[in-house]
Amino acid sequence: MKTKFGKILFQISSYNPKADIVKIEKAFLMAQKAHANQKRISGEAFLSHPLSVAQFLADWKLDSDSITAGLLHDVVEDGGVSLKSIEKQFGKDIALLVDGVTKIGNLKLKGTKNEVFVENLRKMIVVMAKDLRVVLIKLADRLHNMETLYVFDEKKQKRISRETLEVYAPLAERLGIGIAKGELEDLAFSYLYPERYKKLKKISQLAYKNAGKTAKKTKQKLLKCFTKEKLEVKVHGRKKHFYSLYKKLLREEIEQDIEKIHDLVALRILTSSVEDCYKVLGLVHKFYKPVPRLGVSDFIAQPKPNGYQSIHTKVFGEEGKIVEIQIRTYEMHEESETGIAAHWYYSQEKKDRASDAEISRGFFAPSKKLSWVKDLMAWQKEISDSREFLSSIKFDALETRNFIFSPKGDVFDLPKDATPIDFAYAIHTFLGDRCVGARVEGKFVGLNYKLKSGQVVEILTDKNKKGPSRDWLDFVVTRLARTQIRKHFRKS
Ligand code: MN
Repeated sequence: MKTKFGKILFQISSYNPKADIVKIEKAFLMAQKAHANQKRISGEAFLSHPLSVAQFLADWKLDSDSITAGLLHDVVEDGGVSLKSIEKQFGKDIALLVDGVTKIGNLKLKGTKNEVFVENLRKMIVVMAKDLRVVLIKLADRLHNMETLYVFDEKKQKRISRETLEVYAPLAERLGIGIAKGELEDLAFSYLYPERYKKLKKISQLAYKNAGKTAKKTKQKLLKCFTKEKLEVKVHGRKKHFYSLYKKLLREEIEQDIEKIHDLVALRILTSSVEDCYKVLGLVHKFYKPVPRLGVSDFIAQPKPNGYQSIHTKVFGEEGKIVEIQIRTYEMHEESETGIAAHWYYSQEKKDRASDAEISRGFFAPSKKLSWVKDLMAWQKEISDSREFLSSIKFDALETRNFIFSPKGDVFDLPKDATPIDFAYAIHTFLGDRCVGARVEGKFVGLNYKLKSGQVVEILTDKNKKGPSRDWLDFVVTRLARTQIRKHFRKS
């Protein structure tokens, strides 16, 4: 465990020489102590979990605070450490990150299949997190939990997998963390639809093998040519993720025919400049003709809504077989694999070198003080005004929403100035009629208290209470509450 941690530390200091190693080590010691003698259901020492989370965060090149919080993310919930003592030893920022991870961890996707609800849940996670690093830590946490999901019974595996597929993988995609998205989806797919997963694995085996062979031959030929032209590039093959293949097969024009999928194994060519990307494209097309109609997509000139940049071209490769070739710079590659995380990294790295124009275009975060959400918004808005993006993450609209949570993690979308009475009626008439008090985050509040988004509210009832009070009508804001209260007085 110590050696694993040592390796992580080494990795961190190699991408971030200014990392606060002392703080990270302190967090490791605290986690070690808090989780001493604790085991995961798999029988492994509990500490292996926060360590794996820290490993993912380091792979995504995150900052010292994220890694510190990643190591500590379960010490409150499972290790009996108080949030106060985290704040005392590590400061307010770390305490907020740990608290955020705990809070969004308690949100649960209930048995509903309602798409709107799922979409809201994703948005809420982002809003509640306040700091996007919370979402990144949660994604790392989920990734490791998915990797060790085999220990649970089928019911739990399915519930967690569905949540992963519907909530966390799309979040990873929107934050542009390609690696996490693909892995989360494939793991969830294997638990959620085991039969389809097995069948797909079987029918695709040969296709993957053949595609791999063609890609390899094409690669060798191209490499020779690049060397001749003195172009310094890196070429590697990438295998299409399983779930992504599954979804593509279901597309109408594909007609479930794996022969029609040309990017099972794609070649990735990484260059050090945009100029070289186009040079490479020219050379590729000199050797291999682009496939008519499928041809070239230039996502460098026109990035995808989530910021993805790359040139994709489908060509007739060796032996006339179709190969997809993706060309991008190292930086674009990093961004597509680790998204907002890489964005953060480059912003730190290049803060001094970035031009004002680049900063105002949002490519480099001007300052850590800017909230991450706003940062991401500005960044994304500049890159694309695409409808798809705007309808999928309307952070601005969300900030005016009022999401209130029950202690069990159920979520209610209430209007501004909603009170505990509105909340109680939103849950159930019975609860509204018998409400005698409320606790917000453990503290008693008045029944006319104005609830704020993200608060956890517990409704206290008295089962002997006959019904609502007339003066509640002076402060409730939802029609539902108003109607129910009036109804009661009409009856009596
Ligand atoms: Mn955890």
